[in-house]
Amino acid sequence: MNLRIGIDNLKSGWIIILKQIGLEFSRVSLSSRISPEDFSVIIVTARHNSDEINILNEYLKNDGAVLYSDNAIIDGISYKTKKVTSLYAKDHSPFSNIGFVDIFSTIKIPNSNELIQVDQGLMVTSLKKGNNLILPFNINESILNTRSRRKKFYANRKELPSEIVSEVSKGKLRKLVEKALEYLYHKRDLPFVHLWHQPNIDKNLFIFRLDTDFCSKEDAVEMYRICRNNNISATWFMDTDSDDRLKNYESMIDQEKAIHCDKHMVYDSYEDNFNNLFQADKKLKKYGISATGFAAPFGDWNTTLDKALQKMKLKYSSEFTLDYDDLPFFPNYEDKFSNVLQIPIHPISLGRLRRSHFSENEMFKYYLEIINEKLVLGEPVIIYHHPHHRHYEVFNKIFQFINSKGFGNMNLQEFSNWWIERNRLEPEFNYTDNKIYTKYDSQNVFVKISTKDGYAIIKKGEIQIDEINFKQQAKVELKSDLRRIRKFHWRDILYDNESRKSRRYFLKD
Ligand SMILES: [Zn+2]
Repeated sequence: MNLRIGIDNLKSGWIIILKQIGLEFSRVSLSSRISPEDFSVIIVTARHNSDEINILNEYLKNDGAVLYSDNAIIDGISYKTKKVTSLYAKDHSPFSNIGFVDIFSTIKIPNSNELIQVDQGLMVTSLKKGNNLILPFNINESILNTRSRRKKFYANRKELPSEIVSEVSKGKLRKLVEKALEYLYHKRDLPFVHLWHQPNIDKNLFIFRLDTDFCSKEDAVEMYRICRNNNISATWFMDTDSDDRLKNYESMIDQEKAIHCDKHMVYDSYEDNFNNLFQADKKLKKYGISATGFAAPFGDWNTTLDKALQKMKLKYSSEFTLDYDDLPFFPNYEDKFSNVLQIPIHPISLGRLRRSHFSENEMFKYYLEIINEKLVLGEPVIIYHHPHHRHYEVFNKIFQFINSKGFGNMNLQEFSNWWIERNRLEPEFNYTDNKIYTKYDSQNVFVKISTKDGYAIIKKGEIQIDEINFKQQAKVELKSDLRRIRKFHWRDILYDNESRKSRRYFLKD
């Protein structure tokens, strides 16, 4: 039995998500009979003719499973469209760990007596008959959306931090699809098997990024000292505008140095972006630094920037206006995949907390909450800081906490290399007589297996299900006042004006 996803229409947004999750998948034609032995779940994203629907129904009748999404239309169901900003998961649903999803577009809500609500908040439904789920979103378009906007982030206090970030919370949509597929595998009593998205079996990943705009020698030395004391190999994105300061970084050991900018700006034109990168790279090379990564000023991203990054042969970049709190992926635009890996981070820097009047203790608690939630969910923790904002003690405490919890640490270059290796894999997963067979060409990537009994992360090979030591997925507490993060506040306008001004006048951060 193949543990493989079939999809009727292999669009780029879906490829991004299915690669991130690490599934075996392929396009499936609905023109001839489909065996439930060949495909664990079929994702239907388009409208189909009656012959194709008959084939799908036959597959469903033989215990297949279908996930309907995007432009799928189910016979006998009426739909109404609705513009939504954010949707909030219900407690005690299979999707409650997702919390909420920012959509900012039109969704398609099905209506019929034949439907049951699986999560009323996220509007995930299912037909009473057969193994199926219906998502109201256009996943492909949402994942390819490149718009950004100011969003507030949750904290247990009145004034919330905010940042201009990707409009759609793409990481949440990816998790929603993963959960939906897992739900359908389990409905079929199949183990859900995919490549694990972290490089270690038993250690959560911690990555620390620094942007060096305005960074004095004292700030650089102190930040470096705290990283070294706690065995943290960070990635320093260098602002090369003040050439003489670059020598401050020469003696640093075991820290990655990459490109932030020469002029603190992301431009509209390809030439301006390319020249800025070229200048920065030239100055870094003078100090013996060959950068493979980039993080844009203000987290800004556009397609001319990506083209310039490709021309400079950079391996990865990290911009939260494209995506945040998510797994890496190769951006797609103009129907082509970029070859510069995008690595999303958690976008709220300490500077944003300071702007929202957080005390040092509240700053520490903010990051502790983020880290603990990601630890429970098994997601890499990637946070960033500007050394010139100081508050080193907050990071000293964060690093001590990270080390006490046994996190593994990588810099972004190491993580990008590992992810590129994972991304190249074309895994095959099979299931026969209570045994799972996994096949792919890497010793450095593990698999996650989940059944109704729990989940485990293990080495590839031949796996006897009865011998797996299953763990239970812990619940993330749903905050009762979560909705206030999408309520308008007058400060949002103030902060928007500030960011416009800093972009116009080439200010830093
Ligand atoms: Zn900056």
